[in-house]
Amino acid sequence: MNILESLNLIGSWELDLSTKKIIWSAQTYLNYGYEPSTIEPSLEFFFSRLVPKYIPQVQAILQTMTQSKEVHTLQAQIIHKDGHFIDVLLSGRTVYNDKNEAIKIVGTTQDVTQLVHIKKENEELSKLIEISSNEIYIVDIETFSYLYVNQGACDALGYTKEEFYTMNIFDINPKLSQKTAILMRDALKKTKKFTNKTIHKRKDGSLYHAQAFMHTFTYKGKDAYVIFDTDISQNIAAELALKKQQKNLHHQANHDTLTNLPNRALFLDRLQQIILAAKRNKTQFALFFIDLDHFKTINDTLGHAIGDEVLIEATSRLRQCVREEDTIARLGGDEFTVILKDIKTQEDVSKIAQKICTVMRQTITVKSHALYISASIGISLYPQDATERDMLIKYADTAMYKAKDEGRDTFEYYKSSMTQFAFERVVMDASLRVAIKEEQFVVYYQPQVDLKTDTIIGMEALVRWMHPLMGLRPPGKFIPLAEESGLIIEIDKLVMRAAMQQFVAWYKAGFKPGTLSLNLSMKKLNEENCLQELFSIMQELHFQAKWLELEVTETQVMENPELSIQKLQQLSDAGVQIAIDDFGTGYSSLSYLKKLPLDKLKIDQSFVRDLPQDEEDVAITQAIIALGKSLKFHIIAEGVETEAQKEFMIENGCDFMQGYLFSKPIPASEIQKLLKS
Ligand code: C2E
Ligand code: MG
Ligand code: MG
Repeated sequence: MNILESLNLIGSWELDLSTKKIIWSAQTYLNYGYEPSTIEPSLEFFFSRLVPKYIPQVQAILQTMTQSKEVHTLQAQIIHKDGHFIDVLLSGRTVYNDKNEAIKIVGTTQDVTQLVHIKKENEELSKLIEISSNEIYIVDIETFSYLYVNQGACDALGYTKEEFYTMNIFDINPKLSQKTAILMRDALKKTKKFTNKTIHKRKDGSLYHAQAFMHTFTYKGKDAYVIFDTDISQNIAAELALKKQQKNLHHQANHDTLTNLPNRALFLDRLQQIILAAKRNKTQFALFFIDLDHFKTINDTLGHAIGDEVLIEATSRLRQCVREEDTIARLGGDEFTVILKDIKTQEDVSKIAQKICTVMRQTITVKSHALYISASIGISLYPQDATERDMLIKYADTAMYKAKDEGRDTFEYYKSSMTQFAFERVVMDASLRVAIKEEQFVVYYQPQVDLKTDTIIGMEALVRWMHPLMGLRPPGKFIPLAEESGLIIEIDKLVMRAAMQQFVAWYKAGFKPGTLSLNLSMKKLNEENCLQELFSIMQELHFQAKWLELEVTETQVMENPELSIQKLQQLSDAGVQIAIDDFGTGYSSLSYLKKLPLDKLKIDQSFVRDLPQDEEDVAITQAIIALGKSLKFHIIAEGVETEAQKEFMIENGCDFMQGYLFSKPIPASEIQKLLKS
């Protein structure tokens, strides 16, 4: 039933105030549920059909009505013939006679059940809108001002309704421009509904993210649109947190935890991308493979905690050398890579490589340990050397090995000849292993002579490799590689035993070979049970400690002076003499030199070679002798080839000499002849 239909439900009535009888129109009968004229209504009957709670109200109104001429209206409920309640609107006016006496009341009874129902429903819906936690706004589509806002909007924004009704949408949407609002409105007019995200500004100035759903709407006859907004700040915060977490996980998967540098996986990925970019832009780049020299010794002897500090320091030094956009990665251990993008000339690359070498060389102090490392760098260039990732990596790695072979602390560019060299290394390494197994080594001896008496005071044992195909190989050809791979430990052991056996035999035969000088790699000495092994071989062979002198090179001793002091002291305590070999080529610190239990300094042959002509070498040799004397060491000159060199040594107070002038290193059989004569 619509409203118009309900208008038809108006019935009229007339109450005679003297008889209290009522006359009903046909519609009134129908409103009460009776067939017209089937009963005789009265005031009493009316009250019996009125829902009791309205009786007092109606009685009171009747009272006032009989003293007034106005129309009185009341909404009440009557009881239908079949028992259900009907909402009615009762209206009436009193009629008076000429003497102004109230004689009757005429009025209408309108069935408004339907209207009441609609009104109630409307009220409920309004309440629902009002209490919704959503912000609901009705906005004038032309002026953008607020026509209605619910309590949710007031609570969210901190404005009162009154304040809202003086505002427009721009007041709470600081990021919204007039232009966008108009575009949005035009879209809304076409599509009727629209969603978007926005940022709201509260009365206190704080901001939050909101999700808006808009729909066109007619409000109080005006073209408007309704907006339902939800605060989504929490969703956005959760989304951001999730993204951050994902980013963290991604970072962890691609970075080295110690140095925070890209790890191997990310390095490979970046290199691939850089290759693609270089291909596209026709640019060049350089790939560095960097290995820290002596790092393993530090890590093995001083522990991982100190090793870690060194790696962190090395990382920060690397960072100083390259630009922000260049990639530095740690592949693991002490291996780093650098990719230098968009390089112009090879000279620029060399400058950076040089810079890295220079900064790495500087002392690193960790927990009061002064540590020395250096960098060996191999470089491959795109596109000159290779255009493929794996080849660029392989070539930089090969060049890095070359840098190591060149004495470390330097950089090398890849050359195609190195591939051949690398191949040789592999072959060489394999055949060295065979050589150790099959004991293909021979020991030569070179006498050491007292400069005052010209008598033999001892022999240096120098190893040679009797290669089945290549013949006799000097140590320079295989010792560096053996040092690198650790095979030196086995070689030194073989030499040690063979030479001691020989010396014991000579002593037994009544010869006086003096002391045996053994070249021992620090690697061998640092081996855990090296000293035990040495002493037990001596015992087994009846080799006396006083016959033995160990030569350790200055460079190796100074790689880790603290540890060297400790090891050498144990040997010295056992009666073994210690000589420092190749003196003058390393970087000894005087304080360490004083602490080392040394007996002898061996002046490196490079200083002897050009004596006595070269002024600089004269000065250095004199200085070494003076230094050695002041520390109460014996001095021996190696590589003495001429009488003039010998004279120089005698004049300057050197004690001993060793060199071709007296004898080259020769096999034991020839030494025996020499000892006989
Ligand atoms: P080093 O200990 O400094 O040995 C002296 C080197 O100088 C020897 O070279 C010797 O042959 C050479 N030499 C001696 N007198 C003269 C001379 O008058 N003129 C010239 N030009 N050279 C002379 P070699 O035998 O080739 O040994 C090279 C290096 O290999 C040695 O230097 C030593 O560091 C290492 N080495 C040799 N044998 C062993 C070994 O058994 N174990 C270890 N770890 N290293 C060894
Ligand atoms: Mg030596
Ligand atoms: Mg030497």
